[in-house]
Parts: sequence; C-alpha cells; structure tokens
Amino acid sequence: MNSKPITETDVLETLQDFLDPELGRSIVKLGQVQQVRADGGRLSVVVGLPTFAAPVWEELRSALVEKLRTAFPHLEQVEVVLTPWARPPERQGVVGLSAKSVAAVGSGKGGVGKSTVAALLAQGLARAGAQVGLLDADVYGPSIPHLLGVHEQPTVVNDRLQPVRVDGLAVMSIGFFVPPGEAVLWRGPMLHNAISQFLRDTDWGDLDYLIIDLPPGTGDVALSLSQLLPLTEAVVVCTPQDVALLDAAKAITMFRKLQIEILGMVENMSYFICPGCGMRHEIFGCGGARRRAAELNVPFLGEIPLNVGLRTQCDEGRLAAVWQDTALTGFLETICRRLVHSAIQVRRQKAHQVNLPVLE
Ligand code: ADP
Repeated sequence: MNSKPITETDVLETLQDFLDPELGRSIVKLGQVQQVRADGGRLSVVVGLPTFAAPVWEELRSALVEKLRTAFPHLEQVEVVLTPWARPPERQGVVGLSAKSVAAVGSGKGGVGKSTVAALLAQGLARAGAQVGLLDADVYGPSIPHLLGVHEQPTVVNDRLQPVRVDGLAVMSIGFFVPPGEAVLWRGPMLHNAISQFLRDTDWGDLDYLIIDLPPGTGDVALSLSQLLPLTEAVVVCTPQDVALLDAAKAITMFRKLQIEILGMVENMSYFICPGCGMRHEIFGCGGARRRAAELNVPFLGEIPLNVGLRTQCDEGRLAAVWQDTALTGFLETICRRLVHSAIQVRRQKAHQVNLPVLE
C-alpha cells in the first residue's frame, strides 16, 4: 500500500486529462483546480466549473472523486468541492448576443406542450445554477407571460429593453408588445426584424442559455435565428401519437436544412398515472418519441407524464410551483441534464465553425 504523502503535483497529474465541460480542455491547464489540501488520509480539492454545466455538476463531482479515489486508493476520505468559474460568453452572431448556448424549442404541431416545456427547461437550468434567458417568439400564441404569471411590461433603460425577471429568468415575449392575434399575420421580414430586435436590443446580460419558444411548424423564425445566431440549436417537443411524431420528424428535417443542430427530442404527455388507483394509462401510446429519435439519429432527452397539477399550474400562471411535485421533478431534471450533455457535445463539434475558443 502506498502511504507516501500526496502532493498538489500528484493531484494535478491525476486530473490532467479531466476536461472542462465547456471548453473541452484540461481543467488543470485552464487553472481550474483551485485548492488542494492533503492531510493524512484525507484529501480535499476545490475545482472551479462553469455555470453553463451546472445541471451536471453532481455527475462531474462524482467523476472527479472516483478518479482521485482510483489514483489514491489508500485515502480514507476524498472530498471535491465545486465552485463557479466565471468565464464570460463570447458574443454571438450579428446581433452580438452574449450567450453560450441558444436552444430553440419547436414542435411540428401546436398544443403538444412546447411552450410549457420551453419554460420548464429554462426554469430547470436556472434552478441548477445556470444563467438563463427565455425568449417567447411564438407569434401564434405567446403564452410564456401567462405561464409564468408575468403581468408587468418590460422597461427601457438607455435604449435597451430590460427583460422581466421572474423565477430567476430573464424573460422577453412578443406578447408584451403585440395585441393577441396580431403577430400571427407577421411573415418573413417583419418577423425577422422583431426577432433581431429582441436579440440585439434586449439587456440579456451574460447568459449560459437562451431558450427560445418558437411558433409551431413554420420555419420563418427558425430561418431568422439560423441567420442571426450561428450557435442556434433545437429541441423538438412532441406527444407519443403517430401524427405528432410525423410532424416532429418534419420539424427535424426543417432544422437540419437550416443547419440547426438538434439537441434532442422531448416526449410530453407520455402517460397518465391515475392518482386514485396508481395505474399507468398510456393515453396517446408511449415510447414513440424515443423510437423515432433513435430512427432519426437525434438524442432522446426524456419524457414528461400528463399531470393534472401541471395543467392547473399552467392555467393559473404558477408554473414554478411544478418543481415542488416530486412526481415530476425527476423527469424534468433528467431532461435538463441530457440537454446540457447534448449542448456540450454540439459546442465541441461546432468549436471550429464559430468563434469559440479552439480546442487543443
Ligand atoms: P404548445 O406551446 O405546444 O401549443 P402549451 O405549452 O401551450 O402547448 O400547452 C398546451 C396545453 O397543454 C396547456 O394547457 C398546458 O397546460 C397543457 N400541458 C402541457 N403539458 C402538459 C402535461 N405534461 N400534463 C398536463 N397538461 C399539460
């Protein structure tokens, strides 16, 4: 058994090939191993990680502990403490958006829960510790202000729109400016200008994620995004019904034509657990999106059951209350974690195409 005292150099050598989730480079070379304390049989290491990866910090912490335990099996205790590592985002596209990842949430069909999922994703990422903006660009029915119970209007400070702050999110919606039903007539250039203004003239601050609620089906907003922001990626929401899956496949084809990478598919209203008898009822069928995702070669991010509380909280504008329901949080957190893994992968693939720091 090796009982030689462990030095900082030993720890740095061990963690040399542990990659920063955002840049894909060694956390040691990037100076993110901030403190190493070895005391007899105990080792304590402080590592800085970007909030971009906050939903997967726990996985990363376990992997770091495992690596250290394997390298130093004689230790009684290995502790890894994670702390936020600030790294401002690069400015993206012609609109100069300061965000690390832009996830546009789309669906082939309306009414599948796209806006609900977009808002839940934004809340989930923010609850885990990421900096998140939510842009409601659904011209057919901008429902985000209603879901989040936002009644105030954004203000303007120094010619910049101030997003409304709610549930730890910076929120902007086309519904703040346009009477219901009017934006539905917008097409091409008008829509493009509105989206471009929302991206350019809103004081989003430094974001880890900008989640965008797209209108269902139509490619107009997606086309604008692909021109304005080279980093745009997409999440496709569908229900397990065949017709919704067919439309979801069309949405995926549309995103691919626009060179928008698919972060993954979410199956909403997967099944219903009867609160009375506890039985699982597969009202729209189940598992269709997982199968379709595999066929289309896109990641499957997870499923959300039909839930009466979720529906009521949406109606009452208290979506954040959903996070108190343990029957749902597991599903939602899984989706957020898988989304982050997907975003990390896409970032690495795209690093050479857009102005991201080049990997080693
Ligand atoms: P879309 O944006 O696709 O048109 P919405 O997000 O507006 O759909 O959701 C449509 C309706 O379905 C809303 O009333 C919402 O409350 C409800 N809903 C969405 N997801 C669920 C779910 N998992 N369980 C119960 N109701 C849901």
